[in-house]
Amino acid sequence: MLNRADVVIIGGSAAGATAAISCRRRYPDKKVILVRKEEQVLVPCGIPYIFGTLGSPMKNLIPDKLLHDNDINVVVDTAQQINKERKVVHTDGGQDIEYDKLIIATGANPLALPIPGSEKENVFVIEKDIAYLQNMLDEVNKAKDIVIIGGGFIGAEFADECKKNRDNNVTIVERLPHCLQLAFDDEFCIEAEKMLNDRGVKIITNQTIVEILGDKKVSAVRLSDGRELRADVVIGSIGVRPDVELAEKSGIFINPATNSVEVDRYQRVINSQDIFACGDCAVKISYFSGRPSKTWLASVATEEARVAAANLFGVCYAGFWTLGVFSTQIGELAICAAGLTERQANQEGYNTVIGSAKATSKHPGSLPGSSPTSVKLVFSKCNGIILGGEVSGDTCAGELINVISACIQNRMTACAISTFQMGTHPMLCASPIAYEIVNAAEEAFIKLK
Ligand SMILES: Cc1cc2nc3c(=O)[nH]c(=O)nc-3n(C[C@H](O)[C@H](O)[C@H](O)COP(=O)(O)OP(=O)(O)OC[C@H]3O[C@@H](n4cnc5c(N)ncnc54)[C@H](O)[C@@H]3O)c2cc1C
Repeated sequence: MLNRADVVIIGGSAAGATAAISCRRRYPDKKVILVRKEEQVLVPCGIPYIFGTLGSPMKNLIPDKLLHDNDINVVVDTAQQINKERKVVHTDGGQDIEYDKLIIATGANPLALPIPGSEKENVFVIEKDIAYLQNMLDEVNKAKDIVIIGGGFIGAEFADECKKNRDNNVTIVERLPHCLQLAFDDEFCIEAEKMLNDRGVKIITNQTIVEILGDKKVSAVRLSDGRELRADVVIGSIGVRPDVELAEKSGIFINPATNSVEVDRYQRVINSQDIFACGDCAVKISYFSGRPSKTWLASVATEEARVAAANLFGVCYAGFWTLGVFSTQIGELAICAAGLTERQANQEGYNTVIGSAKATSKHPGSLPGSSPTSVKLVFSKCNGIILGGEVSGDTCAGELINVISACIQNRMTACAISTFQMGTHPMLCASPIAYEIVNAAEEAFIKLK
């Protein structure tokens, strides 16, 4: 069967769906086909919440209405090969789909656990697959002892959700001195760990799991110090690997150092004006150092998708590269980070100046629902430009970090941020006198002088 479209997109998740919608907005007359493997697509960032708050994978789906309303033709099939010369995508189901422009958005797969015994039953990684996650949920519901390998933000979210409304033991095993350490400075990690502990999650740091024990099914794990922990379920959350299988076998250049599709700042693959890649499968370059980065986020994937769509029929603008904005919530505590932490900035070689501020999220602080919010900003000592920021507090942290991200993307100085005019309201944010971002910037500005 031969099908034809002006734009063909392979992948139906954050990057693919965003690219399709952005194409439709920009080119109302073009025919757009989106090819994806799955009938229904999970919200990837919502996966941890299936295990507590949502209670089912079926409550965590990207609505197809978004695509239908934008007149995107969806083909549920696996793209098997791209013929670059004939400009055709061949699918497992025997379809040949001709394209004028092609966007590859095949995402990433979880890293397999490099631990003896990881093939045993009830040892899971985080697959974006409804049936797999339903089985995992059923086992989590039955389990008394759950061990989570990796205390990054996904591991921490899983731990919190697996504990929710259950009489079980949940333990995170993290190889670094703190959970969340790759994204946050120590004081924020410690705050998050305290919240996890208060909610009944046990944390073991500075340890790896060297063996998964049991017959057919897991029964325990052995730590690097020799201790054994009982485990009915093990959940591995140690990272992802870009899914470049299709691109690689179709002769598209894969950067061996990053195992991802090499793209330029317009999201074009090497040596082609007609093929683009975006999302987790495409190379990530640090905004700060210009070196490859291992930051795979939906926020980055969707930005790249919009850049790819913008440049399809002639270059419109270059992308930004990867800044890294992380947000998570554990219990009532939201913690978020953008750009470089103080530790990372110092490792890069910056001399840094720090500004910090704390305020209540509403004003006066006696208003119901008001809670303390802390902001830390990191500036370069030599020019006063902001490099990063971290926020902890209630849900307002999620948008405060986005303001900080905008400051970083616009290379704002401590002086400029300290005179930033914000909107405030007693029920919605901190007092204008104490507004955290401005006060933290003013503190840093004074230190810089
Ligand atoms: C548990 C979890 C929580 C997360 N939380 C956050 C968060 O809070 N914030 C954040 O910014 N990021 C978060 N992330 C990261 C984020 O989910 C990813 O960066 C994002 O999903 C990347 O989107 P993508 O479209 O590039 O890839 P994917 O989501 O991996 O999607 C790839 C798509 O391509 C399809 N596909 C692959 N190969 C083929 C083929 N040959 N033919 C047809 N279709 C194909 C797949 O079926 C899928 O539809 C989280 C990730 C996970 C796993």
